[in-house]
Amino acid sequence: MSVHLDHNSTTPMRPEVRKRWLEVVDEKLGNPSSLHASGRRARATVDDARACVAAALGVHEEEIFFTSGATEANNLALFGVLEAAAAERGLVTTSVEHSSVLGPAKELAQCGRRVTLVPVDKEGLPEPAAVGRAAAESPVALVSVTAANNETGALPDLAAVAEALARLPRPRPRFHADAVQALGRLPLRLQELGLDLASFSAHKLGGPPGVGVLWRARGVTLAPRFHGGGQELDLRPGTENVPGIAAAALAIELAVREQPALTQRLARLTRGLWEGLSASLPGVRLLGPPIESSRRLPNTLCVRVPGTDGKVLVTRLDLAGLEVSAGSACASGALEPSHVLLAMGLTRDEARSGLRLSLGWSTTTEDCKRALAVFHAEFSASRAT
Ligand code: PMP
Repeated sequence: MSVHLDHNSTTPMRPEVRKRWLEVVDEKLGNPSSLHASGRRARATVDDARACVAAALGVHEEEIFFTSGATEANNLALFGVLEAAAAERGLVTTSVEHSSVLGPAKELAQCGRRVTLVPVDKEGLPEPAAVGRAAAESPVALVSVTAANNETGALPDLAAVAEALARLPRPRPRFHADAVQALGRLPLRLQELGLDLASFSAHKLGGPPGVGVLWRARGVTLAPRFHGGGQELDLRPGTENVPGIAAAALAIELAVREQPALTQRLARLTRGLWEGLSASLPGVRLLGPPIESSRRLPNTLCVRVPGTDGKVLVTRLDLAGLEVSAGSACASGALEPSHVLLAMGLTRDEARSGLRLSLGWSTTTEDCKRALAVFHAEFSASRAT
């Protein structure tokens, strides 16, 4: 079995979560909108899952919306807020967001909305005051800043952004975070961070793929993107993925409960991995905030091995039994270098040599040892040829 150090792309499903998913499948529940007994049982399962997610996130049940993933949650947040706002109100986001934020931003700009992309520094962090200034320049409906960058693990200072936004005249912009990579890896107190909306994805924390959550604080108006049978308060109509939702809720509950211990363990393993890499790969550089910085995810190493091509290296490492990624998996079919690394000031060639290793709930000390052995063997072989 290969070693999977690509948890920011997806994580294996936790056994408890898989069990829950299968239980719900085997219960042969009906459509939660049906009035008969199996429909009512399905409704109760979805309601329980919603209560469970709300409790884990410390928010109200009616603020939780189940979606098909964080891509949909991000689209719903951006289009939903902007389309419910007056036409002259725009969007502020950053240049290093996931494509499921930058894509809607591009479409909104094409539809005539004013969209500002705040730049980042060489560690991949936007300056909170710059976000505040961008939101003060013209009327803004929404500010969207990732809680944790999926490629570099950089953690923007969301509380400082919220403070800058709180100083703006009313009506203040709503504040959204793509919190996919942060949940379960960091303590996340949504309201203390001054957020109004946040997106999550179950498959990044041991849950099933194809289930996401949008948290929308009370009082935030969203225009629906889809029209249908009225499910999810008519904001996300469509028959609910009952087994997926039940399993996702358990994964989120477990991830939040176990977060303090997991954060510590991942930080220790990630540091060890970085020390091993820097000892065995000549010239290797860590991208993003420094290893000791509190502004980095405890599980992510984005590195650059000069003279290598990240995508070629990913294939070679894969053949040798190690799964990692070059930039983000969503963009890995593309020939373009990572927009995140380019935004941090790397040249196109430098950005092409970026490699991401990301650890998760199933990563062991043995996995990290095997990964280092693979790197060592690959690089001693390439030095010998
Ligand atoms: N945002 C971030 C930061 C992500 O890493 C991802 C997954 N690559 C997404 C959004 C999209 O999540 P999903 O796969 O659930 O659509």
